[in-house]
Amino acid sequence: MSSTIPIDSYRHQGLRKLLVRNIGQKGINDPHVLAALEKVPRHIFFDSSFVEYAYEDKPFPIGAGQTISQPFTVAFQTELLQIKKNDKVLEIGTGSGYQACILFEMGAKVFTIERQKTLFDKTSKFLPSVGYPSIKTFFGDGYKGLPAYAPFDKMIVTAAAPFIPEALLDQLKPGGILVIPVGANDIQIMTTMIKGNDNTFEKKEYGAFRFVPMLEHKAKEK
Ligand code: SAH
Repeated sequence: MSSTIPIDSYRHQGLRKLLVRNIGQKGINDPHVLAALEKVPRHIFFDSSFVEYAYEDKPFPIGAGQTISQPFTVAFQTELLQIKKNDKVLEIGTGSGYQACILFEMGAKVFTIERQKTLFDKTSKFLPSVGYPSIKTFFGDGYKGLPAYAPFDKMIVTAAAPFIPEALLDQLKPGGILVIPVGANDIQIMTTMIKGNDNTFEKKEYGAFRFVPMLEHKAKEK
């Protein structure tokens, strides 16, 4: 991290340790995921007046009607991705950029798409300013994936998808994993699609989660 970033004090680090311990107790075992959560200072993704909420295991509004996901959810989705060093990963729903930084700290090459222009502008400037210049941010519609950079080893959708977009499955490498919360209403089922060598998919379902909706088309404003 560069020295221009907001201060990561001993107090923040202590609170983060406690949060990570709590998430471990909730069932996240992968030491690499826990180490990434311990490394990324979540409070810098919050407006300064809300910093005290950053180390609670809760989602939080980030403006434009969107939220930074709950730390447990970030950890859960990241664990399902089974990130290996240098994996090429596509994230749909950049939001604050926090999940993208976690993936980066796991050793991934991160590509992330956001459909809201205000959030895209804010986060694409913010990430390089806090020491994450290598995360590649795109303004676009995640339903289309990112064909110019495909195929990807892993993909993560951080908004509620009413269905699994075909374009994402197409842009996954054989052996690749898509993690996506599927469901149009209040509750989504965390789902993984693992691509076989012959373009078949193995689908697995995990528990219920709640995300803001994955919407079609780019949006200039909220
Ligand atoms: N990963 C984020 C959480 C984002 S909340 C973080 O760590 O902070 C979900 C985000 O998905 C919102 O910012 C929303 O605008 C975005 N989104 C919704 N539909 C989308 C789409 N079709 N393409 C790209 N982004 C989308």
